[in-house]
Amino acid sequence: MASYEPVIGLEVHVELASKSKIFCPSTTAFGGDPNTHVCPVCLGLPGVLPVLNKQVVEFGIRAALALNCEIAHFCKFDRKNYYYPDLPKNYQISQYDLPLAFNGYILIEGENGPKKIGITRVHMEEDAGKLVHQGTISTTPYSLVDYNRTGVPLLEIVSEPDISSVEEAKSYLNKLKAIIQYTGVSDCKMEEGSLRCDANVSVRPVGSDRLGTKTEIKNMNSFRALQKALSYEIERQIEVLESGGEIVQETRTWDEGKGITLPMRSKEEAHDYRYFPEPDLVPLVISSSWVDSIRKSLPELPDERKERYVKEFDLPPYDAGVLTSSREVADYFEACVDLYPYPKVVSNWIMGDLARLLNAHNVEIENCPVKPRQLVAMLKLIDKNVISGKIGKTVLEEMFATGKDPDVIVEEKGLRQITDEGSIEPIIDQVIADNPKSVNDYRNGKEKALGFLVGQVMKATKGKANPAIVNQLLRKKLN
Ligand code: ADP
Ligand code: MG
Repeated sequence: MASYEPVIGLEVHVELASKSKIFCPSTTAFGGDPNTHVCPVCLGLPGVLPVLNKQVVEFGIRAALALNCEIAHFCKFDRKNYYYPDLPKNYQISQYDLPLAFNGYILIEGENGPKKIGITRVHMEEDAGKLVHQGTISTTPYSLVDYNRTGVPLLEIVSEPDISSVEEAKSYLNKLKAIIQYTGVSDCKMEEGSLRCDANVSVRPVGSDRLGTKTEIKNMNSFRALQKALSYEIERQIEVLESGGEIVQETRTWDEGKGITLPMRSKEEAHDYRYFPEPDLVPLVISSSWVDSIRKSLPELPDERKERYVKEFDLPPYDAGVLTSSREVADYFEACVDLYPYPKVVSNWIMGDLARLLNAHNVEIENCPVKPRQLVAMLKLIDKNVISGKIGKTVLEEMFATGKDPDVIVEEKGLRQITDEGSIEPIIDQVIADNPKSVNDYRNGKEKALGFLVGQVMKATKGKANPAIVNQLLRKKLN
């Protein structure tokens, strides 16, 4: 297996957050009763004409600039013809030979430092509707169609085949998602389909500069699915080649339940879309001054924000990268640091215990029950020796579960740290009496035994004794 390397190129679709659809005034709101977010234009009724939504173009340019692309001065829309029940016009308005933007790149953390992944093109198109597979009538399966999504604006972002591992594919998609979210043109919610990803993958002997035959994998609805599907497909292709076979160029679908990719359509059956210029829309001329004004309005992007965190907050690049990988996490972090100027302490808590709680409860940081003000209040209790760092973790969990302030939790649960020697001494005496072997070990020079004895005292006080005082008192008594 070590003698093959994967080559991956991703095609990502992002739904743009304009209020109305790309060619008509219907709402783009997610969900809604089926077929209520529609009008004659997005239903493709005879005689209607599309009108381009300027906001969509602006959002497209904004995203493309953030992805380091050149913006076309002249582009046009084309019809991509195919028949499918979720596509009422029987063609999709897309862009073919003259896309909105091209020649961009994204920087990711590669195995040996930063790596540029090229972006071939970025183009605008309209989304299709959704088939709802309903069940069966007697034995005949039937589906219903919901056109609410038809005509929702999409940006398709196509990468160069520069991605060389499953890890890099994940990093690329993560970074792309972060950049787009920072620009505010899409919420990029994979679970609502506003970020979707198809993966093209081939393998080749390590060191070869020729590309192998690729397959395209569709229907991966999460980062986990992307990771699993790619790993499976890479291994499958290597096995085919190793056993003397050939890779068939085809589109495959990821079967989440079975954990395998399955053929969907081969190249011979591949659609001939018969692209031609959309006659109902004039070509689009984009002025440099418009592009410049959009460029000026771009917010600080993840790479810049990361760099600032290293400089301004003296954070390790790793911390800075994790914190800025989502705009919401970075905002949360900065809200904390505004109130409590110890960035590394805040970073440790956010990346450690808070991230673990958010993950375990599947909560996004913007909905975190612990507000920055409350996290900071807890950190201050630790600094004032009211609680130990260890108890801080317990308090944070309780804050997360109840949304209560830390001082309230400390009082209610009696978690205040024991700092007076008078209360700690008798416990130490008891621990010394109960553990003669460790006491002996310590006196014979085994420093490690002290750690054990400290642990016993902490256990007896349910973690509430001040560890520094326990250490000091224990040593005094043992010596
Ligand atoms: P298609 O015409 O099949 O859509 P494209 O050349 O437009 O193919 O490429 C689509 C995607 O596939 C791009 O992201 C590109 O980087 C990627 N790609 C192209 N060739 C290969 C290959 N041999 N292995 C892996 N990915 C590839
Ligand atoms: Mg393709």
